[in-house]
Amino acid sequence: MWSNCIGSYAVGPSDRGTPVIIRNVTVVDGQAAEVEVVVTDGRFSAIRPVTDAADSPVIDARGGYLVPGLWESHTHLGGHAYARPENERAAYISRLLTDFLDFGVTSVVDLGGPLDVELAAREHRDTITGAAARLFFAGPVFTGIAGWPVLSDPERAPIAHQTDNPDTAYEQALELADQVDFIKCIYDGEPGAPEKLSFDALEAIVTAAHEKNKRVLVHIHERVDLEEAVAAGADGIEHAFRPQDPGSTAEARDVAALLAETNTYYCPTLVTWEQIAYNGDAGYLQTLVDDGTATHEDIPKITGRPIYGHHFPWHSPQESHVRFDYAMRTLGLMHDAGVKIAAGSDVAMLMPSPPVALLRELRLLAKAGLPLHAVLAAATRHSAEKIGRQATITVGSVADALVLDADPYADITHLIDRSHHIGTLQAGRPSWV
Ligand SMILES: [Zn+2]
Repeated sequence: MWSNCIGSYAVGPSDRGTPVIIRNVTVVDGQAAEVEVVVTDGRFSAIRPVTDAADSPVIDARGGYLVPGLWESHTHLGGHAYARPENERAAYISRLLTDFLDFGVTSVVDLGGPLDVELAAREHRDTITGAAARLFFAGPVFTGIAGWPVLSDPERAPIAHQTDNPDTAYEQALELADQVDFIKCIYDGEPGAPEKLSFDALEAIVTAAHEKNKRVLVHIHERVDLEEAVAAGADGIEHAFRPQDPGSTAEARDVAALLAETNTYYCPTLVTWEQIAYNGDAGYLQTLVDDGTATHEDIPKITGRPIYGHHFPWHSPQESHVRFDYAMRTLGLMHDAGVKIAAGSDVAMLMPSPPVALLRELRLLAKAGLPLHAVLAAATRHSAEKIGRQATITVGSVADALVLDADPYADITHLIDRSHHIGTLQAGRPSWV
């Protein structure tokens, strides 16, 4: 609602060099209460005691709380645009990025899709769309021959490099790394089966990406996939693993020790497992309404979607239940062990919209027992670091931020309920209520 409403003055590209002052605000991670934050040329240029300087435009933050802009660190915008005609997909994705910004999300990380669509979407976002979340992407993912997510659908071929040869994979990764923000691999399937990427190919891809100074995120299934991905040098693990023995937390403890020791980021995508597990369950939709994730009006729209009540290929509801329940039960101990947890939703099949999927993920992280400072870190710092970026409110950093009217460490709803959002800064550009 307020994305185009920026108070009594306009701040845009033509105002480069003119500082803007956000006055009367608490910087949450910087522990600075009642300060003013100055933004110049899209970056934070000062965090200081409140002055009476009147030479720059001033935004009154009304005693609010300034946190870094939120990150959606695992989505597939190409998937959301898939049903649209080809020549409309870039514009559609660009519009989704505007929606994300309306929910306080200033950065979106796309974990795999057709490279031409992603390049066009970013171009569209940068040149045509007004204020919108920034877009980082992987382009095509690496998988085995006809592995997930290609399976038997040739239409999906542009979203993957299917490879059974480490030398080819290395060359492809070197070339791709120049065009994308990071590399994504799918390491899922029966060991030795052609649809599973080989360990040697995975290692070759990581080597190539690291030579180009790009991070590698690896989608895994079983614990052994996770351990091998870490051994191959993965920077981030995507998806909560399926435990061998869901009755014991021993596996989670072992995995936690490994991830913490190797400083590997962990993005459990809880909301994906929740949605696959509960797809078709009316009680689940009622839960979403009860906790404010969805409205009554959203429900017929959700149940009218073609995917509603249908099994997800590859992952059964039973398996997804196990992964979801186990992750919910063990994420707290993983956090306690020092694992850097990142926030990403993956798909929004039963969510009212893609941005809401991320907010649901944050609610689930809190429900799993993560302290709220860790939830905020997951939605900001850790998600950015996962792809080699930063999200902090410090002098010199990019001015992407969200202003809340209440303390996000007091209650998760202060972060995820939009009624608590006062405004955003995107590269210093304010959108205010
Ligand atoms: Zn994904």
